[in-house]
Amino acid sequence: MPLHNIYTTWYTKNNEQRIGILSAESMLLGKSLYAVFIWHDVTEQLQAETALHEAYGKMEQEVEKRTQELCAANQELTAMNEEICSINTKVQKANDNLHEEIHLRQQVENNLLLREKQYRATTNLFTRPSIGTDKLAELILFNAIQLVGAMDGFIGKYDRTGTTFSLEHGIGMYEQFANTDIKLQEGPLKSVYNQGLIIRGRDRWQYHDFYDSTSAPLVSMILVPLKQENTVHGVLAVIWQDDHDISDEDITILRQFADLAFLAIERVHAQQNVERVAFYDSLTNLPNRANLHMRLKGELAKAATNQSEGIIYSIDLDDFKAVNDTFGHSAGDKVITATGKALLDFFAGNAFVARISSDEFAVIVPGKTTKQKAADIATRLSARLCSEYDIDSDHILLSASIGVILYPSQGKTVEDILRKVDTAMYSAKQAGKNCWKFFVPELLHKNVVDTVMINNLHKALPRNELFLQYQPQFSTDGKRLIGLEALLRWKNPEHGLVSPARFIPLAERSWLILEIGQWVFEEVCKFARFLANNGKTDLRIAVNISPRQIKQDNFIESIFSIINKTGVSPQQIEVEITESVLMENFDDVIPKLKALQDNGLSLALDDFGTGFSSLTYLRNLPINCLKIDKSFIDKITMDTVQLEFVSSIINLGHILAMDIIAEGVETQEQLNNLRDCSCDYIQGYVFSKPIDRDAAVKLCLNSIQ
Ligand code: C2E
Ligand code: MG
Ligand code: MG
Repeated sequence: MPLHNIYTTWYTKNNEQRIGILSAESMLLGKSLYAVFIWHDVTEQLQAETALHEAYGKMEQEVEKRTQELCAANQELTAMNEEICSINTKVQKANDNLHEEIHLRQQVENNLLLREKQYRATTNLFTRPSIGTDKLAELILFNAIQLVGAMDGFIGKYDRTGTTFSLEHGIGMYEQFANTDIKLQEGPLKSVYNQGLIIRGRDRWQYHDFYDSTSAPLVSMILVPLKQENTVHGVLAVIWQDDHDISDEDITILRQFADLAFLAIERVHAQQNVERVAFYDSLTNLPNRANLHMRLKGELAKAATNQSEGIIYSIDLDDFKAVNDTFGHSAGDKVITATGKALLDFFAGNAFVARISSDEFAVIVPGKTTKQKAADIATRLSARLCSEYDIDSDHILLSASIGVILYPSQGKTVEDILRKVDTAMYSAKQAGKNCWKFFVPELLHKNVVDTVMINNLHKALPRNELFLQYQPQFSTDGKRLIGLEALLRWKNPEHGLVSPARFIPLAERSWLILEIGQWVFEEVCKFARFLANNGKTDLRIAVNISPRQIKQDNFIESIFSIINKTGVSPQQIEVEITESVLMENFDDVIPKLKALQDNGLSLALDDFGTGFSSLTYLRNLPINCLKIDKSFIDKITMDTVQLEFVSSIINLGHILAMDIIAEGVETQEQLNNLRDCSCDYIQGYVFSKPIDRDAAVKLCLNSIQ
């Protein structure tokens, strides 16, 4: 068994320290136990070990140091890593943002592209200073076509009922159809109208779906409705010849174009409407008064430089109001339209024809003319306008009064000329209508004179300047006096005896006729009463009643109050009214006339034939007697047609149980004719002129009944 190992130190003779390990071991050799000591020099080993140890220590230190360094580096690295991580996150975020940004940018860019495209497409529309509203829709169409890369297209509008499509602008194939109307048939146009949606098609429709006249195949097309809210007003159509598709952006732009086009078309229509309303008459489509003013101003300027002489006609239909009142406004409108057309036909494009008020027209005939030429035209025009209008089932005979003036010789300004030509027209009216008159300066003077006369007329009644004459009415053999017509006379100290044809219109104009008319009626009643008091109860005294009198609300009351006051029998009185009275206020007048008739008064229709002579309305009138106007009687001996006309009036009157009195019968020949036609009574110079009261009393009292 080994003994303990012991380190021992000893020194060599060189005093070199040596270290060894002494180990002892017991050893049994035979029966003897021996101790064995072994010394083992481990100096080098120890040195090596120490060196190794040291080396290890150093190494450990180094490793420690390194480890620490590594740790530090590691920490740094971790920190860096974290930083990198955070940066990374940031980068990621930034990246995400960037993506988003890029996406957004792309969108913006797309938008911009779209806008730019739009801008490019629309820029033409708004950067052309000279473009008028009317051209805008066409330009939009042009741009729409360019946008799509097409050649053909059109813009149009549907009518309100969707039965017609008016193609307002056409480009390419459709240019020829601009401003034409198409009847809507089944097809794309109808579909757009019905559905209000964009229609895109390829090879689906042919040109003849739009128009029968073309047959070229349609390759691609897009129809965009022109819409406002839910109503489809029209279509913007683009048609192209290949099969290239168009992008959604393009469709968006087309939609915007359609909106723009609609606005443009609407604006043009609105503008046209404004112009139409401002310068054209809606009934006849003729230029209106404002338009006439403008035109005349221009013509005056031209005439001054060209030294030319033009003509203005002022045309007013005679008794037109009566047409309206009798046959209704729609018949009146038809007459006006027919007159407008007649004027256009008559002047055949060589004149400017305007409608300046309800039944008033004005015509400018520019160029070089003479007074004679103007007169010739006026004569023919007057004849042309005196005609029968077949309106619905009625035949309406109308005439016109015409004023004529030459410009610039007779007037230098528009107002001056129109005033003068109007005066001329009124003078034609006063001259009995259905004629024409030149303007003469005296006419203006006449206006002044009229005013003076009206002033005088005001004083006539209180000054006893008015009196009545009576014109007898006889049976055709002249033997039997049946009555007398009271005719008003005015003896003015300054002007002498003034004709009723002159002062009655003035009395009407100034409303003096109301006062004067009452006086006349009372005088007549007194006269009739006087005759009755003297046994002459069967003689009828006719009294003329003017339109203004009848129109008064208290007309009937005032008549009966006078009848009552004078105590006359209503059967002795005949009220004469003219056709125009009747025509002007048919609905108002008829009941009044009926009231008179119901109370025993007799009613006569005076001047028959000078109005528009519609025999059809006579049937419904409470009339006892027809007085055929002198103007017809004048012609019966020379013109068989006139005689036949008078004869037929007489027959008709008889059928309607009316008495017929012929007025203004001057000759025996006329009398004979009238007798042959079975005319009932005669009033005229052939038997007697109007006579004074005394002579009338004498005649009446001596008459046999
Ligand atoms: P009127 O009622 O048609 O009267 C008939 C006119 O013819 C009268 O003219 C009369 O003198 C005229 N006359 C009758 N026979 C002949 C003839 O054979 N030859 C010619 N050349 N003339 C004849 P006057 O008296 O000048 O009256 C003209 C018009 O004035 C009347 O036409 C009537 O419309 C109106 N008038 C007359 N008196 C009155 C009145 O008291 N009140 C109203 N409102 N109007 C009246
Ligand atoms: Mg009369
Ligand atoms: Mg008469």
